[in-house]
Amino acid sequence: MTPRALPALAGRGAVLPVSAPVAPVRFTAPYRTGREAELLAEVLASPMWHGDGVFTRAAEELLRGRVGGGSVHLTPSCTHALELAAVLLDLGPGDEVVCPSFTFTSTATAIAIRGATPVFVDVRPDTLNLDVDAVEAALTARTRAVFVVHYGGVAADVDRLRALCDTRGLALVEDNAHGLGGAWQGRPLGSFGTFATQSFHDTKNVTSGEGGALVVNDPVFRARAEVVREKGTDRSRFLRGEVDRYTWQDQGSSYLPSELQAAVLVAQLEAFDEIQARRHRVWGRYAAELAPWADEHGVRQMLVPDGASHPAHLYHLVLPSPADQAGLIRHLGRREVSAVFHYQPLDSSPAGRRLGRTPSPCTVTADVAARLVRLPLHAGLTETDVDRVVDAVLAYRPTA
Ligand SMILES: *Cc1c(COP(=O)(O)O)cnc(C)c1O
Repeated sequence: MTPRALPALAGRGAVLPVSAPVAPVRFTAPYRTGREAELLAEVLASPMWHGDGVFTRAAEELLRGRVGGGSVHLTPSCTHALELAAVLLDLGPGDEVVCPSFTFTSTATAIAIRGATPVFVDVRPDTLNLDVDAVEAALTARTRAVFVVHYGGVAADVDRLRALCDTRGLALVEDNAHGLGGAWQGRPLGSFGTFATQSFHDTKNVTSGEGGALVVNDPVFRARAEVVREKGTDRSRFLRGEVDRYTWQDQGSSYLPSELQAAVLVAQLEAFDEIQARRHRVWGRYAAELAPWADEHGVRQMLVPDGASHPAHLYHLVLPSPADQAGLIRHLGRREVSAVFHYQPLDSSPAGRRLGRTPSPCTVTADVAARLVRLPLHAGLTETDVDRVVDAVLAYRPTA
């Protein structure tokens, strides 16, 4: 090991060995656009830190442009936006809502917290999105809505789901946590449902640490969405000068984030194209450079059907066996590359069994959950980072 003086610290005699371990490649990290601190300082210097000020409005306007219209309401999280949708749909005990078993818990907790029953349905093996035949088979006289996830921002079968929901008089809610910037046949994800929900958690493409939004596409719900979000009051109308005081009107809770969060979100949304270009660069390199290895070893790469354009939210591989899921994650970990698996099937989870119903076994979900690996994907990855991930994956030999 040849020690090398670090120029900045040389005066203090600090040295680092040349073979110092390289920094780990992080699985996810918020991207700093450089504008967050400036906009945050504007809020801090202003007398208004609570929600629904200029930055909330600016963020909602920027989002509207990305989700194809609708009325957009910032929320503290995607989970809260889903809960808000459940309140607006008046979901309650005895109601059933169909949702995928292969998703994050929030899709189901938002249903269960109202006392309604999440009905877990399997996903298709290709896109890992809701299997519409299985959705249809799961409908009962009690079904009120379908909550759909665009997994990895790849459009679910929205045409069929929309038609099915319209025929049966059901609401369609897009959990669009992965899908901001994605589209189906040129139409933005988030514009197909009665409602759509967005997430700005710091694992998502744009972030305010925690954060979310409800998109209301059916105008019937717009006025009530404002009221429920504002502790059951008509404060939004008051702020627009439409009433001279605001009063308690309806059910409600506090579903608005502060201007501090909104300011950070505005900085991120203004840099959306830059963030997306960086993410697509990483996604595209994985897709191209891992293809021969994947072919040779029976590994399935992410599939994007014709007509779908995705926002490079995640990159996953489906390995030949569960042993390879653990094996690849360990192999990458030894090379300082952080990779993870998800989701644990909701239908067989402790709360899923207790609070939900599973009309037929979610076999694809169980199978894929045991074999899927997600690779690092965020806008801060450098070409060298991606080289390291690719080289590390290519050096892995599946056992099956
Ligand atoms: C991240 C995520 C959520 C939850 O988002 P929060 O903003 O953290 O509440 C919900 N659904 C899906 C599919 C997600 O990926």
